[in-house]
Amino acid sequence: MNAHAEVAIVGGGLEGLAIAWSLAERGVTDVLVLERETLCSGMTAKSSGVVRCHYGVPSLAAMARYGIEVFSRAEEMFGTDVGYRRTGYVVGVGDANADALRANVVMQRQLGIDVELINHDMVAEMWPGMALEDFAAFAYEPDGGYGDAYMTGMAFAKRARELGVRIRQKNEVRALRQASDGSVVGATLTNGDVVSAEYPGDCAEDGEDDGDFCGGGAVGFP
Ligand SMILES: Cc1cc2nc3c(=O)[nH]c(=O)nc-3n(C[C@H](O)[C@H](O)[C@H](O)COP(=O)(O)OP(=O)(O)OC[C@H]3O[C@@H](n4cnc5c(N)ncnc54)[C@H](O)[C@@H]3O)c2cc1C
Repeated sequence: MNAHAEVAIVGGGLEGLAIAWSLAERGVTDVLVLERETLCSGMTAKSSGVVRCHYGVPSLAAMARYGIEVFSRAEEMFGTDVGYRRTGYVVGVGDANADALRANVVMQRQLGIDVELINHDMVAEMWPGMALEDFAAFAYEPDGGYGDAYMTGMAFAKRARELGVRIRQKNEVRALRQASDGSVVGATLTNGDVVSAEYPGDCAEDGEDDGDFCGGGAVGFP
């Protein structure tokens, strides 16, 4: 069945569903998610679910910090558990990377992330019996832990649906549709249906066989 949406999102994994939920929360509810299989059946289903802010790139660290805020309030925000368990997260490095670790901790603290340098004794107390001789420096973030990517994606989907987002599973996109000026105006599905959209977005790039349309994947979310 042909369809129109203000925003069409290709791919119903963690990213596509997070965007659908975020848009809906901001009042953009005319959103259609197109998933070729079932929700969260791609990489999302395989995630180990490690939750941490320990990234060397500030934008990634800031996004991870926001992610932990969302995980911490998940029950209140989505009405469901997303599997987040706060266990603490330690990263340890050898001599060669000790300065970089210290610089990362400074940067992360400037972003408001709860992280500190800890010494060998503190790590030994947390993990008695660990061989720590090869490590030169450690950083510890108490809010790190693990989550469940599938549960998180399904929570995004649930809330997005409640806010009016439409989700179509078993709807594979074969190609993005382009206007004569090259702008992306929608998608053609494998079953022949056409979806038109003001803002088509590609969240399907999973390193597999989606090269057919990802090459032209203009994303222009409001
Ligand atoms: C083994 C493993 C361990 C990981 N561990 C961690 C971890 O510990 N911590 C962490 O933060 N991250 C981890 N990740 C990464 C994390 O899982 C991914 O970053 C995240 O799930 C990506 O979500 P996504 O929505 O981009 O991709 P996906 O979940 O792959 O979603 C893309 C979706 O697009 C769909 N699709 C593809 N082509 C089309 C098409 N033509 N038409 C319609 N739909 C289409 C697919 O079916 C899929 O559902 C791990 C990943 C793997 C594989």
